[in-house]
Amino acid sequence: MSQKRVLIVEDEATLRRIIADALTLAGYSVVVAEDGEVGLQRYMDFNPHLVIADIMLPRLDGYEMVRKMRKIGGTSQYLFLSARSQVDDVVEGFRAGGNDYLRKPFDIKELIVRTEALLSRVDAGMNDIFHIGNYTFNSGTQQLTIADFSRHLSTRESELLRALASNMNRRISSNKLLVDIWGDDSYYNLRSMNVYISKLRTYLSDDPTIEIVSIRGIGYALRVIE
Ligand code: CA
Repeated sequence: MSQKRVLIVEDEATLRRIIADALTLAGYSVVVAEDGEVGLQRYMDFNPHLVIADIMLPRLDGYEMVRKMRKIGGTSQYLFLSARSQVDDVVEGFRAGGNDYLRKPFDIKELIVRTEALLSRVDAGMNDIFHIGNYTFNSGTQQLTIADFSRHLSTRESELLRALASNMNRRISSNKLLVDIWGDDSYYNLRSMNVYISKLRTYLSDDPTIEIVSIRGIGYALRVIE
């Protein structure tokens, strides 16, 4: 099993180090950030399985940062940390796309348990849900949803979108897509793939911030532009 990647965004240096050390010791690959803007940048570079986000952060607060992460896309799980204890915080945390919530001060063992629970969802394949701009794509049921409109994708459309969405904001080579999804990279299949890309562009056109970019001589990238 490959190492799970965890991004910790916490501005209190001591707490950040304690969490990072504990998770590293538990076998995770850990990256840290000290504010919301850096957190967002690390998210794009590191593509974490789990983001542990403090709520009160400099530059960009934890809620807003996670909203942006969800908008960029991917399949990360989220765990919010907060010193505040109002119930409203919990509600707002989940609305912003939080999967779990831990109040400070907490026992580091409790954090490890929550982390394991959230990451076991990843192992169970429960993160078949991709957020792509305002769309939600469930690659298990092959449903692409925006607001209250849902479209059922064909198996090949779904496989192609899953490959692109798993590599949000990254280039993916035509060659790899063809071999993985079509079985070989013949010219005939390349033509077929171009047709599928056009279909996906049409399906995703209700959110103008989404684009499937063709990179000449390389392949494609699915991007959400701010
Ligand atoms: Ca803080």
